Amino acid sequence: MSATPDVCAGAAPAHAGGLFVISGPSGVGKGTLVARVLDRLDDVWLSVSATTRPPRQGETDGVSYRFVSDEQFDHLVADDGLLEWAWVHGQRYGTPRAAIDDRVAAGIRVILEIDPQGAFQVRERYPQAVLVFIVPPTFSDLEKRLRTRGTESDEQIARRLQTAQVELSEANEYDVVIRNDDLEQATADLVDVIESYSSPGCSGNRSSSHHL
Ligand code: 5GP
Repeated sequence: MSATPDVCAGAAPAHAGGLFVISGPSGVGKGTLVARVLDRLDDVWLSVSATTRPPRQGETDGVSYRFVSDEQFDHLVADDGLLEWAWVHGQRYGTPRAAIDDRVAAGIRVILEIDPQGAFQVRERYPQAVLVFIVPPTFSDLEKRLRTRGTESDEQIARRLQTAQVELSEANEYDVVIRNDDLEQATADLVDVIESYSSPGCSGNRSSSHHL
């Protein structure tokens, strides 16, 4: 695995900053990775999604997610208030649009932690978005992590593992794939990707995937 990805190629970007979409199967450690990256980088903002999923223990409304009713979500969709949205594990999740558009226009680096359906919708709207997929070392490792964290029932875990199989098959559509078998290394890789793509003179090269 390369610690210093050579992801910067091509002409200068239209603006500084950038839009970074992070996906990966449930249990792969996206949340932990993103939190570590936010600790290390300035001027990076993490979008807070809206969801119809009920809060888990310890999740705060407006911090982890905006927890909304089905009716409220319907309104967000009807009012074109979402940049993208999708059904994931039987619930709806979406990215509030205004906060993203404003920050991207202001040249702030924005991270979206969303599923592949949402990621591809974002790519349509923001072709310059950098799509990063986090993979586990093995599938059984993913299952182990999901069971150990103990936040889902057996039925929910089975559903998440089923979804994980589909999501993993989409990893090759992403610009960058990072393997999370060592948290420190994976954090460094993600920091490198964000720094490289948002550095002056770098527009990233989306013509091929960079597997780290
Ligand atoms: P969880 O319920 O474990 O917090 O998240 C389940 C899945 O929903 C994860 O794959 C996560 O990336 C995805 N997700 C979270 N927010 C959004 C969003 O705004 N849009 C989409 N499309 N997926 C999201």
